[in-house]
Amino acid sequence: MPGKSPSRSRAGRLVVLDGAGRGRSRARKDKGVVWLVGAGPGDPDLMTVKAVRLLQGADVVVHDRLTPQPILDLAGADARLIDVGKRKSRHTLPQEGINELLVGLALQGLKVVRLKGGDPFIFGRGGEEMSACRAAGVECHVVPGVSAGLAAGAASGAPLTHRGLAQSVTFVTGHAASGGEPDLDWASLARVNQTVVIYMGLSTAGRIATRLIEAGRAPSTPAVVVESASLPHERRLATTLGRLEESVAGLDGPAILIVGEVAALADVEHQAKDKDPRQHGDERKHA
Ligand code: SAH
Repeated sequence: MPGKSPSRSRAGRLVVLDGAGRGRSRARKDKGVVWLVGAGPGDPDLMTVKAVRLLQGADVVVHDRLTPQPILDLAGADARLIDVGKRKSRHTLPQEGINELLVGLALQGLKVVRLKGGDPFIFGRGGEEMSACRAAGVECHVVPGVSAGLAAGAASGAPLTHRGLAQSVTFVTGHAASGGEPDLDWASLARVNQTVVIYMGLSTAGRIATRLIEAGRAPSTPAVVVESASLPHERRLATTLGRLEESVAGLDGPAILIVGEVAALADVEHQAKDKDPRQHGDERKHA
């Protein structure tokens, strides 16, 4: 990394040199810590104040490939960024390797932020990373984030619960571990007056719809799909359970599928008015 080179001084302290050669030293006896931080769905304005503060103070930020640049830009100038490159099933570093990396960095006395999309504990493997830290005696804390399902509801105007329409909401994964089909309780998910929010369901949308219909859900049940919720290229579309597969055909994700009566309340034409100037070009500069 030009301009920034961590090195060991003779006193056994980790010294981070800035571009001008000035050193910032940190006693090696400092206890390291891992923060599993929810980064939200992509728009930096949807991060928590705590997430931003921790990013700014981190020694190391371990992130996935899909983390948007405006979020990474919030890290302190001295922070080392490590891309562990998760993208669908193609992992640059397997989960065990990520666990070991986090533990190893913390044992060096570093303050590590493990940045996770959405919320770390919703389909984010945050539990595994936390367990690995605990097993190694490394202090680990979790900061919740706005999960993609919540962002998709907000972006499309489909309330995930609504008096008279949905008394419960269930988050499910459409990811198929074996047999090309997710292992879900179709009979329970097919009941009316509830919302099913599907993560990682683009490639299995057809099978999911078929199973729900076989279990009794009407093909006319409203559904909403939100791709890249909260990001500049967000796409929202309204469909039905019966047409779900054809509706998602042109999408390459990440996307959330919302199935249930509440989807009829969605206004997919609606555009969010308050866009982040960092993502959309700051018009105020030209005012
Ligand atoms: N921990 C994350 C989910 C990780 S699983 C969370 O709480 O949001 C990855 C899946 O999340 C994707 O396949 C997609 O279904 C969903 N996802 C993540 N970001 C998204 C976004 N901006 N818009 C729509 N779906 C998203």
